[in-house]
Amino acid sequence: MPRPIQALVHTDALAHNLARARAAAPDARVWAVVKANAYGHGIERAFAGLRGADGFALLDLQEAEIVRALDWRGPILLLEGVFEPRDLELCSRLGLWHVVHCSEQIDWLAAHKTQTPHRVFLKMNSGMNRLGFTPAAFRSAWARLNALPQVEEVTLMTHFADADGERGVAAQMARFDAATSDLPGERSLSNSAATLRHGLKSDWVRAGILVYGSAPDHPEHDIGHWQLQPAMTLRSKLIATQQLQPGDTVGYGSRFVAGQAMRIGIAACGYADGYPRHCGTGTPVLVNGHRTGTVGRVSMDMLAVDLSALPDAGIGSEVTLWGCGPGGSVLAIDEVAQAAGTIGYELMCAVAPRVPISALPAA
Ligand SMILES: *Cc1c(COP(=O)(O)O)cnc(C)c1O
Repeated sequence: MPRPIQALVHTDALAHNLARARAAAPDARVWAVVKANAYGHGIERAFAGLRGADGFALLDLQEAEIVRALDWRGPILLLEGVFEPRDLELCSRLGLWHVVHCSEQIDWLAAHKTQTPHRVFLKMNSGMNRLGFTPAAFRSAWARLNALPQVEEVTLMTHFADADGERGVAAQMARFDAATSDLPGERSLSNSAATLRHGLKSDWVRAGILVYGSAPDHPEHDIGHWQLQPAMTLRSKLIATQQLQPGDTVGYGSRFVAGQAMRIGIAACGYADGYPRHCGTGTPVLVNGHRTGTVGRVSMDMLAVDLSALPDAGIGSEVTLWGCGPGGSVLAIDEVAQAAGTIGYELMCAVAPRVPISALPAA
């Protein structure tokens, strides 16, 4: 028998969450963001649940080739644009739309030979200070692109730094609007948090984390609040149990000291599987669908769970690290992320290659 750890991708949940994005932005078309191997879910598996999207947004040209190979004829958007001039050849060949965020990318496009003009998303740096033209430089970039025979249509785009938090989007929206109000063309503004929280009017929303069933503004809101379903389950089994006496310790560094007699289980999951090591005692976990907590330090291949309230649990009991457990139980990835001082995004992207992943229902 293989080691019992497994990741499952719930394609029905992906489709459900995509429908939530549509409901939140009823007038917009929806990019399903599938960068980073679909946030760790696997592009092919994610595609099975997200084929109802209006397009797929990603970063790697190789991922774009995979989506085309899945026979997707609709839009594909390169969110960072091209990395060197010859990438434009692939854009022409596969009909990829691409972000233009710097003047070098316009130079490359101007020198590019193509029969079919490209759809480009011109990105404004409205305050994030990662990619994009400043509001002052935006208009001349737009004019330059519009004059190129290599360009078919220019969509105006920006990205928010604080859509999930208190600052919100107002300051960035004001900068964007001031610099673009008289420019024609479609707009693409919102990520998941902006889509769910701010209801901005735009032509294209870019839904990433929400389609994977993680709340972009956790812990202010959880997936129940946004009616999202976990798209990934990480599960394993207990491979041992231990009976502790008062004063006994658990794991490396003897970080946990039993205050009383208690029983613990040892699950076949550790940081080498992508489970975060920075999770203290009490990180939520499900055993046979019942909520309990981890005990002591997470080690490379194992972690310990408290079985004090679960007398029936033993070797072979199902352990849900996050996602869907037996009997309709759910443990949101956001809760585990919070215990580790990180966000759901990082955990789902970091499931280790040694963990077998399969789609449910099978694609
Ligand atoms: C990753 C990304 C998104 C999706 O963000 P989520 O918070 O996962 O919805 C949207 N737009 C751009 C430019 C991105 O890089």
